[in-house]
Amino acid sequence: MKNKEKWPLSPSMESTQHISLKKQYALFIDGKWVAPNSGKYFPSINPADESHIADISHANEKDVDLAVRAARKAFPSWSGLAPSERAKYLFRIARIMQEKSRELAVIETLDGGKPIRESRDIDVPLACNHFFYYAGWADKLAYAFPNRQVEPLGVAGQIIPWNFPLLMAAWKIAPALATGNTVVLKPAETTSLTALKLAEIIEEAGLPKGVVNIITGFGDTGSALVNHPDINKIAFTGSTNVGKIIQRAIAGTGKKATLELGGKSANIIFDDAPIDQAVEGIVNGIFFNQGHVCCAGSRLFVQENIADKVIRKLKLRMKSLYVGNPLDKNTDIGAINSKEQLKTIESYISIGKKEGAEIYQPACDLPKKGFYCLPTLFLHVAQSHTVVQEEIFGPVLTIQTFRTIDEVIQKANNTPYGLAAGVWTDKGSRIFNLTTKLKAGVVWANTYNKFDPTSPFGGYKESGFGREGGIHGLAAYVKLS
Ligand code: ADP
Repeated sequence: MKNKEKWPLSPSMESTQHISLKKQYALFIDGKWVAPNSGKYFPSINPADESHIADISHANEKDVDLAVRAARKAFPSWSGLAPSERAKYLFRIARIMQEKSRELAVIETLDGGKPIRESRDIDVPLACNHFFYYAGWADKLAYAFPNRQVEPLGVAGQIIPWNFPLLMAAWKIAPALATGNTVVLKPAETTSLTALKLAEIIEEAGLPKGVVNIITGFGDTGSALVNHPDINKIAFTGSTNVGKIIQRAIAGTGKKATLELGGKSANIIFDDAPIDQAVEGIVNGIFFNQGHVCCAGSRLFVQENIADKVIRKLKLRMKSLYVGNPLDKNTDIGAINSKEQLKTIESYISIGKKEGAEIYQPACDLPKKGFYCLPTLFLHVAQSHTVVQEEIFGPVLTIQTFRTIDEVIQKANNTPYGLAAGVWTDKGSRIFNLTTKLKAGVVWANTYNKFDPTSPFGGYKESGFGREGGIHGLAAYVKLS
C-alpha cells in the first residue's frame, strides 16, 4: 500500500507504514489465490476518510462451488489426522497472528473504522486466544464429551458480519478445525481484509490445502454458500433478517446451524450500585465499537431514585468522549462502518425525535470526511418507542426508569431479542435472581462486554440459537453418539 502519511505524525497517531496490503485480492480456494469466475471486484473503503484501500473479489456460485469442493476433498485427511497434529496447526496460526498482531490491528481499524485501541487491545488478542484455546481442545475431545463418540460434521459454511471481522473469523474457524471439520468462510463485504490476511497466515502456517477457504462477496455469495448442497453446517453471525432467510433456506435439508443474531440488550442500575463504576460500564456497553455490537447495552434502566444523578454523570462522561480518526490512540468512538449504516443510524435518530423522545448529544466537531455519528442519548422514552424496540447498531442509548425489580424484569424482557443483559447492584442475591429471570444468553454482573474464549455466547428468542465459545463452541461442530 502506498504510504500517504504526512510526517511527522502526531504522537498519538498509529502509523500505517508497517502494513502490507495488496491492491487487489483474489479468493483463497484450495490453498491457492484464484481470480473470481465473475471477473468482478468491489472496493474496500476506509470509513474514516472514504479512501479506497483495495479491490476485493466478488465470488459467484461457481466460486462458491469450487471452494466447497476443495473443502470436501480436504475433509477425509483433515478429520483423519491425529488430533495432536491438528492442534499443532492451530497453535502455529495463533503464533503467527501474534507476531503480526500490530499489522492486523491497523488493518482492522483502516477497513472497519474501529478505534485502534480496541483493535489492538481487544479484537486481535482475543482472536489469537480463540486459536490458542481451541488448539488446546483438539486432542482432548474425549474429555470434553466423556463416554461419547465424537465425529466432525463435515464442511462448515461460515458467514460473518463487519463489526468484529477478525475476531468473528477466529471464533468460527478455530473450533471447526479443532474438531476436524473443513471450512468455507465468507467475511462481510465492507470488512474483508483481515480475513484475507488470515488466509495469508493460514498459508504461512502450512495448513493442508482446502482445509480453510476464504471467499469474499456480498449477500448473494453468502446465499450461494447456504444453499450449496454439499455443506453440512452453517454458522452465521449477522442480522436477524438474514438469519431468518437462512433458517428458511436450510429447512428440511439436514444442514446444522448456529445463528447469532441481533439484540437490544438491557443494562440495569439499582440504587445500591457503585454509580461511577456503573456509568463507566454503561458507556462501554453502548459506545464500544461505535455501538456496532450485537450485545450492546442499548437500553438503560435506572432505578427511579438515582435517575437524576446517573443521567448527570452519564452526560458528563459523554462530553469527554473523543469522536474522530480511528487511528488516533485517544479516539473513543471511531468511524461508523459504512455510509449505509450511518444512514440507518441517522434515520433511527430522526424517528426517535419524531416520536417525541428527548435527545442529548454532546457538542463536538466531527471530521468533515468519513462516516461519523455523535454519541446519542434518548430520554423520556416509552416501551413502545421504535428506538427502544429495534436494534440500531450504533452509538444510541435509551434511558427508562423503574421502581421495582419485577417491573424492570418485565420491561427488560419485553423485546423480540434476548442476547445479553447487565446488572449493576451490590446485592448478590439480586444478581442470582436476575440471571435466571432475564431472558438473555449472557447476563453480566457489575461489568459489561467481557468476552473470553472459555465462555459460551448466544441468544434467546430472535437473537438466535446455538452457543459459541467454550465447550459449547466445540459441541456446535460435532455429531455425538
Ligand atoms: P448487516 O445488515 O448488519 O450488514 P447482514 O446480516 O446483512 O448484516 O450481513 C452479515 C453477513 O451476512 C455478511 O457477510 C453478508 O454479506 C451476509 N449476507 C447478507 N445477506 C445474506 C443472505 N441472504 N444469505 C447469506 N448471507 C448473507
